[in-house]
Amino acid sequence: MSKYNISLSVSLAAIMMMSSTAALAQATERPFAIAIHGGAGTIKKEKFTPEREKAYRAKLAEAVEAGYSVLDKGGASLDAVTAAINVLENSPFFNAGKGAVYTHNETHEMDASIMDGKNRQAGAVAGVKHIENPINLARLVMEESVHVMLSGDGAEEFASQQGVALVDNTIFDTEGRYKSLLRAKAKMKKAEDELKDYQAAHQALATEYKVGTVGAVALDKMGNIAAGTSTGGMTNKRFGRIGDSPVIGAGTFAENESCAVSATGHGEYFIRYNVAADICARVKYQGKSIEQAGNEVIHDVLMPVGGTGGVIIIDTKGNISLPFNTKGMYRATKSNISPTYVGIFKDD
Ligand code: ASP
Repeated sequence: MSKYNISLSVSLAAIMMMSSTAALAQATERPFAIAIHGGAGTIKKEKFTPEREKAYRAKLAEAVEAGYSVLDKGGASLDAVTAAINVLENSPFFNAGKGAVYTHNETHEMDASIMDGKNRQAGAVAGVKHIENPINLARLVMEESVHVMLSGDGAEEFASQQGVALVDNTIFDTEGRYKSLLRAKAKMKKAEDELKDYQAAHQALATEYKVGTVGAVALDKMGNIAAGTSTGGMTNKRFGRIGDSPVIGAGTFAENESCAVSATGHGEYFIRYNVAADICARVKYQGKSIEQAGNEVIHDVLMPVGGTGGVIIIDTKGNISLPFNTKGMYRATKSNISPTYVGIFKDD
């Protein structure tokens, strides 16, 4: 059992030993909790100056707090998920919204999805270029359209109809991501020259160019869970490539009967292995805990086939699990009984 799973029962026991009215009220309160991620990947401690690490941790704490305060005031898990993801989308640190990676054509194409565990309603957008907060548009697709997924120009036409402002694609530009595109292009060219094959060269490209995303899962006081994910996808992507993040069942899934999941990792694997839905199916049909189900899929299913990444998972009891098979995953949690936890590296 990981520290995230035990924290709930340990804190409950501690609270029950206290005799103050406040503690009793807290103990009888319905659980509410949130977990967020800012992407999994080759995140090495030596690449961070102390200042940079502090800034990342502060942004993760800010995002989890934004979602938590919605829940604390009695707000819906969907609103908490959106609020937390907006903070991460608006930060240049993460591969979503501002800070999204570059495509081969030096633009940004973003994907996002959201799902409501109460009724399995879902919304998603793929390949949007002019939407400042793609998660908000995914939510509008869920709430204001009869569809689940809209893509490209059509999604943006729908956004305009809904009164969402279209922004210039350059607002997502960041110097660091541009340098990363140039490095990825140089590596791909070298590999293509050697291997004489685009597909093989792409396979050879290091994981760091294929991962990075943001997401959130939350449980509200009404007992409903929700999940959302937003991404710029893969550096140097071509041909309108879409990853798992907007695919319900792969990158995002939520149903109150099992769990809510947001994924980050090499999208092609997460689509083929239907990762988010598979985790929830194991909980629902095999009676597994979210921790068991998450570990099985991330370590026993994905790892052997080379699928790198991680997930954040929550259930209606407020249990949280954060398995990943990469060097690190930006992550944070907070619940009504456990204080803010922020992690980046494996041993955090
Ligand atoms: N899953 C995303 C994609 O493949 C990237 C990531 O989460 O790291 O587009």
